[in-house]
Amino acid sequence: MAALGTPGGTIEILKKYNFSFQKKYGQNFLIDANILEKIVNASDITDRDCVLEIGPGIGTMTQYLAKNAKEVIAVEIDQALIPILEDTLAEYNNVTVINEDILKLDIGRIVEEKNGGRAVKVVANLPYYITTPIIMGLLEGDVPIESITVMVQKEVAERMQTGPGTKDYGALSLAVQYYTKPEIVAQVAPTCFMPKPKVGSTVIRLDRYKEPPVDTKDEKFMFSIIRASFNQRRKTLVNGLANDAGLGLAKEKIAGALETMGLPPAVRGETLSLKEFAQLSNLLL
Ligand code: SAM
Repeated sequence: MAALGTPGGTIEILKKYNFSFQKKYGQNFLIDANILEKIVNASDITDRDCVLEIGPGIGTMTQYLAKNAKEVIAVEIDQALIPILEDTLAEYNNVTVINEDILKLDIGRIVEEKNGGRAVKVVANLPYYITTPIIMGLLEGDVPIESITVMVQKEVAERMQTGPGTKDYGALSLAVQYYTKPEIVAQVAPTCFMPKPKVGSTVIRLDRYKEPPVDTKDEKFMFSIIRASFNQRRKTLVNGLANDAGLGLAKEKIAGALETMGLPPAVRGETLSLKEFAQLSNLLL
C-alpha cells in the first residue's frame, strides 16, 4: 500500500473500499506529508502520551500519532470509514477506534479507562462544521487535557487569537484565552487536502494553563456574562446584560460596576479585555 499522506495513497485506499466523501461530515483528508509532520511535531507527542484524535478519516494522521504516542484514541462518526481504519491501522496495537459522534461521547470516561484519568493531548484535523462546539466542549468540560493541536478554518484560528475591538473578537476568543495560550503553527493551502476545501486552513496549538491568567470568583458566571455581552453585540453592555433574562441583573447594578471599573456608561462588551470581564463578573456576583 502506498503511503496515505499522498494523493496516490489516498486515492488507492478510497477506491479499494469504494468510499464516497460525505460533505455533511466535513471530510477533507490530508494528502501532504509535510503538513502531517508539522502537526505531529508541534503537538510534542512522546511515547508517554495518550492522544485523542477527533475524526481520523482513513487514518492518515493516526498512523503518525500511533508511531509517536503510547496510546491513541481515535473517534470517527462515519461508519463507512471503520473497515478502512481497521485496514490502515492493522499494524498498530496502540490505537482504539471508536465509532461515535465526538459531541455525544463521554470523553472523560474513555480517558479514565485508557489513561487512568491523566491528561491527554488532543490532535486533529477537525471537521470545520463543528469546530466551535468541539473546542468549547474540550475547554469547558472536565476532561483532563494538556494541549490541543488542531487544524481549523483560518478565520476560526484568527478568532481564537484576537483581542478586544476587532470584529472577530467574541466568546470563543475569550474561552480559548482564558483556558489556554494559543500559538499558530502553520498556514495550510486548500491543495493539501482531498477534496480541496473552499477556505484556507491554519494549524493552531492551544496549551492549557495550569492556572488561568485572570482571577475570577466564578468561572461559569463570568462566561454567562461574556456570552450575554456578545449575544447583543450592537447594544451597550448595560442594555445587553440587563436584557438577558437568565442573568437577572438590574441596570443600576451593572452601571455601578462599570463606574467602579472606571469604564464609560455606554461601553460595548466587545471592547472589554478578559481581565475586565473577570473584574466585571466579580463585581456583579
Ligand atoms: N484526520 C483525517 C485527515 O486529516 O485526513 C480526516 C479529517 S476530516 C477534516 C474530519 C473527520 O472528522 C472526517 O473523517 C469526518 O468523518 C469526521 N467527523 C465529522 N464529524 C464528526 C463527529 N461529530 N464526531 C467524530 N468524527 C467526526
